[in-house]
Amino acid sequence: MGKAQHIQTGLGLTQVDIGCGGDISKTYRGMAHFAGAVPGMTCGDCFFFKKNKCGKAAELSGKTGMKLDKGISIPAHASACKYFAKR
Ligand code: SF4
Repeated sequence: MGKAQHIQTGLGLTQVDIGCGGDISKTYRGMAHFAGAVPGMTCGDCFFFKKNKCGKAAELSGKTGMKLDKGISIPAHASACKYFAKR
């Protein structure tokens, strides 16, 4: 399993309103969107979570051409993002 890292908050990222599902401080690199969108649910509960990677992030990055860091993993306890889909 790769290393888990929170995204850096000092990069001038805009803090999104929690009501639209965003808490930068709880978000890990490799997630499809900001953590905290689905109260009580975690990445470990999500259909897209496989081997500590996010399939939705991979799908989205393929569409945008964004690169995903292959050495990074997401902990199962990470708070779910807005793309959460129950297993
Ligand atoms: S909740 Fe699901 S879609 Fe969102 S980051 Fe976690 S595994 Fe990916």
